[in-house]
Amino acid sequence: MATAKSPRLEASRGKLNGLLKGYYLGLDAAGKDPAQKVAWCTSAGPVELLEAMGFHLYFPENHGALLGARRQATGFIGQANAKGYSPDICSYLTADIGAHLRCETPLKEAYGIDAPPKPDVLVYNTSQCREVQDWFSFYGREFGVPVLGIHSPWKAASIGPESVADVTAQLERMAEALAPLAGAPLNRARLAEVVKLSSQASAYWKRFLETGRARPSPITFFDATIHMAPIVVMRGQEATRDYYRGLVEEAEALVRAGAAAVEGERLRFYWDGMPNWGKLRFFSELFTRLKVCAVASTYCLSWVFDELDYKRPLESMAEANLKVFINRSEGYKETYLVNAVKAYSIDAILFHEAKTCPYNTNSRFGLPQRLLEGHGIRSTTLYGDLCDLRCFSEDQTETSVEALVEQLSARAPRA
Ligand code: SF4
Repeated sequence: MATAKSPRLEASRGKLNGLLKGYYLGLDAAGKDPAQKVAWCTSAGPVELLEAMGFHLYFPENHGALLGARRQATGFIGQANAKGYSPDICSYLTADIGAHLRCETPLKEAYGIDAPPKPDVLVYNTSQCREVQDWFSFYGREFGVPVLGIHSPWKAASIGPESVADVTAQLERMAEALAPLAGAPLNRARLAEVVKLSSQASAYWKRFLETGRARPSPITFFDATIHMAPIVVMRGQEATRDYYRGLVEEAEALVRAGAAAVEGERLRFYWDGMPNWGKLRFFSELFTRLKVCAVASTYCLSWVFDELDYKRPLESMAEANLKVFINRSEGYKETYLVNAVKAYSIDAILFHEAKTCPYNTNSRFGLPQRLLEGHGIRSTTLYGDLCDLRCFSEDQTETSVEALVEQLSARAPRA
């Protein structure tokens, strides 16, 4: 098959900019209009519940990622440290709180928005980590608004009916607590509609990511980090479903054309752990130079919610939330990674050991060693962080990646 350089999903990129601009401007307007309600929510949800109850949703994690991607995070972290939030805890949290304390936001430069929208309620889910509870509690005190949480059972090998029933009951209670703020009880038919739209968007997102299985791959992990914004912040909306339908069409056309995201693709890597938001360009350029394509990642695959089912909306939301990779046992993660390595024809895994996110760091309990000894899967661990650039060394990282590429290149060629 002929290899052509990928045009980098340009049509979708244009649509994405318009979609996100509309989202942020809509949020800004909602925050200024007392008749509209704003909920701050964790990426683990419960997005569909809030969407169905008519809230405009804002995600502090997305703000943290934006601070990281624009390399503004490190400058704000000290402000949160001075308030007693340790430099060792989530740098999304410390950067975001620091920016709030300094009354600054990257939304100003990006969209002309002075500040994130004031919340009417803050809603978190601990299936991802404990930080979110304390993060949202800070803002609950700041704004004097209620903070509601789903407390999920943690780190399960398999998800039993008792855990699903527990979280479903919590969602039911949350819907009751939200009703006075929303001005109406939960409309179950509307919830089913929203869950259906989320499920359809998730299916398209999955198909888009699976184009990375092609050889050469027409997409990279870095493309996916750009195009994932709507599946995180705009689930349950028609515009999001339609956006991903278009993205799939564009990516699948690239597969048919034999387009390569990395010209002369020689090796295929899998990225595990958080992105290093301020260094995506560094990694992308390094990999391009070495003719390595990072074709898939646990991070981007985490927004594939196969469980969502509009016929049993709350239960399926509970299941989807409990089954996220970050919330699973080491044994589950090992099997998941082995399958991903096969599905995407991966040569090696890069484990990103993010200093301030132990929850999304999978290199600390012997997993890389078990993958090598049990399955012959090679990997290397890269040290850094999601936002705090003081934890990262370009030189050290470059040396580690080059050493891995050299080792892999010395192997017998793939059959
Ligand atoms: S999972 Fe990690 S990056 Fe995400 S909010 Fe929790 S500590 Fe921060």
